[in-house]
Amino acid sequence: MAIALLSHADCGLHDTGWGHPEHVGRLRAIPRALREDPELFHALTHLEGRHATPEELALAHDAPYVERVRALSAQGGGRLDADTVVSEGSWQAGAAGAGCVLDGVDLAMDGRATRSFSAVRPPGHHALRAAGMGFCLFGNVANAALYARHRHGVDRVLIVDWDVHHGNGTQAIVEHEPAIRFVSMHQWPWYPGTGAREDRGPHGTVWYVPMPAGLPAERYEEDWERAVDAAMVGWTPDLIFISAGFDSRAGDPLGGFSLELEHFERMTRRMVGRAEAACGGRLVSALEGGYAPERVAEAVMVHLRALL
Ligand SMILES: [Zn+2]
Repeated sequence: MAIALLSHADCGLHDTGWGHPEHVGRLRAIPRALREDPELFHALTHLEGRHATPEELALAHDAPYVERVRALSAQGGGRLDADTVVSEGSWQAGAAGAGCVLDGVDLAMDGRATRSFSAVRPPGHHALRAAGMGFCLFGNVANAALYARHRHGVDRVLIVDWDVHHGNGTQAIVEHEPAIRFVSMHQWPWYPGTGAREDRGPHGTVWYVPMPAGLPAERYEEDWERAVDAAMVGWTPDLIFISAGFDSRAGDPLGGFSLELEHFERMTRRMVGRAEAACGGRLVSALEGGYAPERVAEAVMVHLRALL
């Protein structure tokens, strides 16, 4: 069974400046770590993803917003909010990041690669329908979930998000689709301030695990597992996505969780097991946050090994 590592050189064109936590060094650390693990390197199918088209990005986003990002890039850049930068290369980077995850769906659905991980930036889970936010331009995973439903006829989709921040953008984009379920564990109270446990979305299809910082890692792992269980009671997904943010690893500069490599390994294996049981193993994972580059890369290696 092929497991794909999807990336695109254009993801490096999103220039936030070195003072910004979401810089290109986050992605560069991944191939560097992979070179030190030739066995893992050779076990993966390495693919360059495509660029999502404006029409594809408009599955999740309002078309005028997509055009605004394109036009802002073409003019040399600007800002969407205090932390969300658009540079000259951001349109190419955003379209490539979103496109890699669309390719992950295509690969899973036509059987070329049952599972994939997209090493992409900018991240996506804070991007709203008509606004970028929290370092995110386009909702890479939410958009791919809609693409799977509307272009591949996939019925039920499960998205799990273990980034330390609440995936408010993913929620905003998918909560109106009753066939998409969303599980997010995140630090609470913390940026962006949403994701309360009692928020179940208009169709009762979101499950939130807001957690304080600094607990023993097993607590996060167990509560996360319980929420995934709750989302799958009497309901079997046809495709599973992971919004894999590694800012939930201990020591991240933007988070206070204590997860370590062993926890990411087990959480990944559990999702692989669920995908094997529910949907022929089909699992599409994409990088979200994680701001200590070497530590993110180590976590990605463990995640990739567990996907295999
Ligand atoms: Zn995050």
